[in-house]
Amino acid sequence: MQLVGETPKWGPSILIISLDTVNAETLALYGGIAQTPNIDKIAARGVLVEQAISHFPETCLSHWSMLSGVLPEVHGNAPANRGSIYTGPTLVEIAGSAGYRSGAVIGGITLQDQACGLGRGFDHYDDRVPNNPQDFTRPAPQVTKNAVAWIQQRPGPYVAFVHYFDAHFPYTPKAEYAAKYGTGYSGALTGSDVDLRPFRDGGKTPTADELAHIHSLYAAEITQLDAALGPLLDAVDPNNTIVVITADHGESFGHDYWFNHREGLWDQVIRVPLIVAGPGFEPGVRISEQVGLIDLAPTVLAAAGLPTDTGMMGTDLRALGQAGEVTSITDPWREQSSMAVRNAALKVLITPSRQLGYDLVQDPNELAPFVVTNVDEQLQTYSQILKRYAPRQVAAPAAPPPLDPQRVEQLESLGYIAPD
Ligand SMILES: [Zn+2]
Repeated sequence: MQLVGETPKWGPSILIISLDTVNAETLALYGGIAQTPNIDKIAARGVLVEQAISHFPETCLSHWSMLSGVLPEVHGNAPANRGSIYTGPTLVEIAGSAGYRSGAVIGGITLQDQACGLGRGFDHYDDRVPNNPQDFTRPAPQVTKNAVAWIQQRPGPYVAFVHYFDAHFPYTPKAEYAAKYGTGYSGALTGSDVDLRPFRDGGKTPTADELAHIHSLYAAEITQLDAALGPLLDAVDPNNTIVVITADHGESFGHDYWFNHREGLWDQVIRVPLIVAGPGFEPGVRISEQVGLIDLAPTVLAAAGLPTDTGMMGTDLRALGQAGEVTSITDPWREQSSMAVRNAALKVLITPSRQLGYDLVQDPNELAPFVVTNVDEQLQTYSQILKRYAPRQVAAPAAPPPLDPQRVEQLESLGYIAPD
């Protein structure tokens, strides 16, 4: 509640940076090849979560879970409904009730308010993307510039949510960044849509050289993106700002599922970076316990001294030992949906045709699955969790507003909605 007539005792500001489509394992911080000096600096003065798991391998619903602390299915089919049916308060709404200002700068079309409804509760939701069917994203330097301009106008505490779409397909880094990761590949394959579409559609399998080359382009894009984070990180007061760096989901470079994420629940797709620095977070700590992205909102609210909401399904990640299983699903409103139940040592992957187990300690790349015969317990637990929460704060979906025809075309080209 905002106090009237008294001087409020403000907590720290909150900066949440979401790097769309950046998986943990590609970052050098997590043992991969992509150098990210700016992200590394935040990790050095904060907490790095080694096993942070996304609940949903698509942009809109993963961000809803991240900002609300509840699982994707509780939100309903937010992309189809153009918003969540969950009426419980998000991190942004709770902070707003406490007097925080809130602003978002969005880098890609799938998180536009008219496509996803994530603008709910924000004072300012800057989601302008170019009206160009060939390019529906804003490059990172522009996102940073707008976010810095908004932050610099805020005299009091704020929540800033800054979304970067640069690592998302296609992989087209500038030459100077691509050169950092040269693999010696001499073929003609580029990271463009035209070149990679046959692999993404399942018709072609890359050779080892092609795969290394394409992954290097992805890594180069991440390094290029990291460079654009510098001015944003410099614009906040490190002593009075909780800085979160994470991603909504990763990207697949294996398992016969190439350069994509929607259908994958392997760790390349669901294990994401999660770094939190600022007041309340010990510098240089690495947490090996597993957390889900639904833990982000309760963690940040608690660290800022703000109330959490009893409807949130996540917990403060600093309360170690509470982390249990984390669930992830692919789009349950489509046929052939899959589910993964993961703890720090084991993952069970449940598809309509198979039930596979992975020993994440012995087989971290998930190359040697074993057959799991009984997943009833996991499924029952999951449905009980959903039953317990789903009826609490759910509004009937209103008829979604019509989507701008140009946006429909752009979403189709990304593969997010099927053409009529
Ligand atoms: Zn995404």
